[in-house]
Amino acid sequence: MKITEILKQRDKGVSFEFFPPKTEAGKRSLETTVKALKKYNPLYVSMTYGAAGGAQQRTKEAVIMLLKEKELVVMPHLTGICLEKKEVKNLLDEYRSKGIENIMALRGDPPLDEEGFDFSKQEFCYGLDLVKFIKQYGQFCIGVAVYPEGHIETSSLEEDLEYTKQKIDAGADFAVTQMFFDNTHYYGLLERMNKKGITIPVLPGILPLTDVAKVKQFVSICRTTIPKHIEEKMERYRKDLAEMEKIGVDFTIKQCQDLIKNGAKQLHFFTLNKPEVMKRILDAIQ
Ligand code: FAD
Repeated sequence: MKITEILKQRDKGVSFEFFPPKTEAGKRSLETTVKALKKYNPLYVSMTYGAAGGAQQRTKEAVIMLLKEKELVVMPHLTGICLEKKEVKNLLDEYRSKGIENIMALRGDPPLDEEGFDFSKQEFCYGLDLVKFIKQYGQFCIGVAVYPEGHIETSSLEEDLEYTKQKIDAGADFAVTQMFFDNTHYYGLLERMNKKGITIPVLPGILPLTDVAKVKQFVSICRTTIPKHIEEKMERYRKDLAEMEKIGVDFTIKQCQDLIKNGAKQLHFFTLNKPEVMKRILDAIQ
């Protein structure tokens, strides 16, 4: 089923994002996570795409694993950089043959080991190019990424919004935001999009705050900011990770409650393949 249809039919719900495991233990942990979170009746589940080395294959395998759970609607992510059009077409053919109807279309980040990576030499230079290609292919409902605090490479929120609009005009059906920890950034994005006449659903992307040092690592490569008060509060418990996690999870619960209070009906979670933290949050916001 297409995610746009699901979002129309169910005006309340959560979706879960997983990443492809690298080891046998990781695979077991993903299976456990999926089984534990299935009972929350997700709107859909998604699997991130790794561009480097064997990561593409791992994404495909993980997607196939998710498809075994018949009641789940599965959306693979796909990043365009480093791929040729024929490779993307083959992958879309394969996904379509497995009954997949939704794709998260992304540009991707430059490979870490390639200094001075030249995007302009890519067949898919921007997320926009992949959206256009998938739209032309037909059949798929297309999700794209949007950035409440602006994408790290853009000089202003206005420029960011202009490029976002291009992706949507080219055929994106819904969007999921980059993680944010201050809801005013999300509300601001919705307001800017609204003023620009953008009406597609924009799901807020929530990363549970657990280990502040790890989250700081994640956000160092994007423009997401962590509010000082919560960063400082969590850092006081560097030597007591359980207490730090409790503070962080309480913060995330309040963040979700505020989103719901302000009209967000569908929340998207970056689960990090960790069921326990997710269960605490989901039970608290039901
Ligand atoms: P784009 O929309 O192409 O934007 C990239 C930059 O180019 C922006 O600064 C934009 O403003 C600028 N730009 C866009 N169009 C133009 C134009 N015409 N001219 C000039 N500049 C332009 N990465 C992965 O590798 N795998 C994943 O599975 C994955 N999943 C993600 C899920 C979510 C919800 C989010 C928010 C991000 C995800 N990412 C993933 C990260 C993503 O690949 C990076 O953020 C990447 O740097 C940008 O991807 P994009 O599709 O948003 O790019």
